[in-house]
Amino acid sequence: MVTTKIRYATKNPAYVKNLSAPDYRYVEFQKRGPLGAVLHSIGTPQPSAEIIANNFDDPNAKESVHMILQPDGLCLQLSPLNYRMWHVGGDANQTHLGIEMSEPDSIAYDKDNGYALIIKNHEKAKEHVVATYWHAVSLFADLCTAYGWDPLEDGIILSHRECHARGIGSNHGDPEHLWEGLGTGFTMDSFRADVAKEMKEPDTEEEMDHLLEMVKRILDEQNKELMDNDCGAWSEDARQWAIELGIIAGIEVDTEGKTNYAWQMPITREQLVTMLYRFAKKL
Ligand SMILES: [Zn+2]
Repeated sequence: MVTTKIRYATKNPAYVKNLSAPDYRYVEFQKRGPLGAVLHSIGTPQPSAEIIANNFDDPNAKESVHMILQPDGLCLQLSPLNYRMWHVGGDANQTHLGIEMSEPDSIAYDKDNGYALIIKNHEKAKEHVVATYWHAVSLFADLCTAYGWDPLEDGIILSHRECHARGIGSNHGDPEHLWEGLGTGFTMDSFRADVAKEMKEPDTEEEMDHLLEMVKRILDEQNKELMDNDCGAWSEDARQWAIELGIIAGIEVDTEGKTNYAWQMPITREQLVTMLYRFAKKL
């Protein structure tokens, strides 16, 4: 069972960029949310999600991910899931979540030999990788359920290596390099099939609570983005008209006295008739 803990890497430069949303890519990702998820393996012998998170939570970090998983099922969430993070070095950053798996300290990479995998303790290393794989299956099943994704649909769940093969990610071989190097028999096809299978199996009450908590968090994050005062220039005349006639009211006034109309929030039937009613009274 996966336990997700919020541990936002607020000093990470990608996290900081999302706060200022300097260009349309960040705005688009935040309002739309992710369309799929990329599975990664960290590529360094570091089993602890916390230590990996500390490394990402640094103004000099070059990369960022949404979540980090370790073999006991602890998952650290480093940013809201509707933030645009820098995990795959290509266009998939614009569409996909980045989920990182930690790696056992019973392996090493040979720097002088193209970072070839060195296995120091095969049994221990495999134990780590197999346990983390199954927690990743469970986490991806929850994400697919929460976002309404079909894990078997092309392009929804990808590895970093697959992103590179599709021209939407940098030249990395994770996580398959480790699965293959340790002879686990895992492939991305087995991963997607296991996620689909996990989604069909009845969840325990504990797992359901975890899933509901994740759905709530995703909705809260998404609503927060829609509840700022953002709006398009094309609607300016209509917005002014509605404010002047008193058809629409704001949801709050900020410290500078500026009203927030939450222009991009969906409206309820109750709100719709209220607006029609206010308009009719003005006629
Ligand atoms: Zn990767």
